[in-house]
Amino acid sequence: MIMLPLPTDLPEPELSRNTAVVLQKRYQRKNPDGSLEETPRDLFWRVAAAIAAQEAAYQSPYSPEALAREFYELMTSWKFLPNSPTLMNAGTDLGQLSACFVLPVGDSIEEIFDAVKYAAMIHKSGGGTGFSFSRLRPRDSRVGSTGGVASGPVSFLRIFNTATEQIKQGGTRRGANMGILRVDHPDILQFIRAKEKEGEFNNFNLSVGLTEAFMQAVEKDAPYDLRDPHTGEVAHRLRAREVFDLLVKKAWQSGDPGIVFLDRINRDNPTPDQGEIESTNPCGEQPLLPFEACNLGSVNLARFFTPGHENEADPARNGVDWTELARVVHLAVRFLDNVIDASRFPLEIITETVRKNRKIGLGVMGFADLLFQLNVPYDSPEGLALGERLMAFIQEEGHKASAQLAQERGPFPAYGSSVYAARKAGPYRNATVTTIAPTGTLSIIAGCSSGVEPLFALCFTRNILDGERLLEVNPYFEAALAQAGMCSPEIMEAVAAKGSVKDLDFLPEDLRRVFVTAMDMAPVWHLRMQAAFQRHTDNAVSKTVNLPHEATEKDIFDIYWLAYKEGCKGVTVYRDGCKSVQVLATGEGQ
Ligand code: ADP
Repeated sequence: MIMLPLPTDLPEPELSRNTAVVLQKRYQRKNPDGSLEETPRDLFWRVAAAIAAQEAAYQSPYSPEALAREFYELMTSWKFLPNSPTLMNAGTDLGQLSACFVLPVGDSIEEIFDAVKYAAMIHKSGGGTGFSFSRLRPRDSRVGSTGGVASGPVSFLRIFNTATEQIKQGGTRRGANMGILRVDHPDILQFIRAKEKEGEFNNFNLSVGLTEAFMQAVEKDAPYDLRDPHTGEVAHRLRAREVFDLLVKKAWQSGDPGIVFLDRINRDNPTPDQGEIESTNPCGEQPLLPFEACNLGSVNLARFFTPGHENEADPARNGVDWTELARVVHLAVRFLDNVIDASRFPLEIITETVRKNRKIGLGVMGFADLLFQLNVPYDSPEGLALGERLMAFIQEEGHKASAQLAQERGPFPAYGSSVYAARKAGPYRNATVTTIAPTGTLSIIAGCSSGVEPLFALCFTRNILDGERLLEVNPYFEAALAQAGMCSPEIMEAVAAKGSVKDLDFLPEDLRRVFVTAMDMAPVWHLRMQAAFQRHTDNAVSKTVNLPHEATEKDIFDIYWLAYKEGCKGVTVYRDGCKSVQVLATGEGQ
């Protein structure tokens, strides 16, 4: 590997305390004795240089050195960050740079344990894995070779969960999985109930794969067929409504399982000739083919606020630096495409699949923070319109950038048999360009709100890393309070106690309207925003629909139904307080 030397004039990144702590604990390389081998500047240069070095393989408008500087500036201005494995492993011997993988689970002991082993290898390198268990024969069916009975998907799920538990990812990530079972699998009821006991399958997100036929049966209150995947025979029938109601009930009780609309995901599969998509990555935003991986990156929208730029002809464009956003999107697409070449995967078949389709997932973070700066409430038609407009722009520019790379470097190898070629679109360098990730850690590093989520609280204690707790105040909220002349310790305390300003009627009305938090708004706004972003995203959108503790099963039913009608690819709901441990918590009850 050619490493570009660190330029002596490279500026030091400016770090907040949170950023410094997270980088130091999880991202900066350590010596064998645990001491720090690199500074934050070394870290970002390592990444920038390793990714820019890939440029040498192509006819490029950039020299690797010039591009490395651009990438360094892109990351350390907190305008764009690649997913965690890229930050951790680029330019190192490990070199595994993708966050998302999907592995097949075949219906034999050999194939099941192969999948366990592959997952372990991927977890070790910082990636998350998704699996469909739908091909496994149901519990109690016969096993030909031994004459015994099969134990079924849920019991095998336990093996995957335990294996994950044992692999701490080099002291950085713990391992995360998605487990999907089709709604027409005979063991579906057992699967829906799998996480009834708190703590069960703690290393898994579970989602039920809903089919179009099932949704239509729910609509008509009709029965539907459950098929043994091994024999293809109808094993029995269930009333679709009853299954749907059970799904809703379990989601109400614990948030698990979620749902994904499998047929819809496959309708958007850009390379259907390579097979069906049966699972997503752990947080649901990245549907992938078996043995496919994808690397993600996120643009921090909070950094694109610009107070000038009044545009009277098109007032909806005010406040956002669209020119700079386009520049960053183009550079980010080049970055993520280079990541594919720089990545070393633990299995040859993954390398082959990834290189055939070259999927990347560019998304956003800091959306709520941008809305704060623009004085636009999240739960408003203007908020929705802005989300939609931003993502449409990123999607369009992202595809332009991918088309440009196709001119320089050639289209993704499977382009000829893809849906794009059939539609005479492209050619593109990447089978997919956009994905909205949760940005759990990235948003801490960039110091912004996560993904497209509203703020959970304006002021809260964050449980991070080994039980350490930090009190955090949203900087835009603090500035707005100061501007209103109301930034006193008493007021901060009042806000901290609730996390929200909705009921603090001594604060100015417009401030209370703009600084709206996840739990202040009617749940339907969460879903509408997810749908607005989904309309302009190739892959899927990671989003949690937060509901208040008092929400009913009917509320969840309505959210699920709306997600179906609005074209979402899946939904995750979370009713406040339904689990004893929450990652983020407002002041109340602390
Ligand atoms: P980050 O902010 O650290 O880059 P995200 O929260 O955006 O990560 O998650 C993106 C994807 O990364 C997830 O959907 C999942 O595929 C993977 N991922 C996240 N956390 C973990 C983890 N602890 N272990 C393995 N993979 C993970």
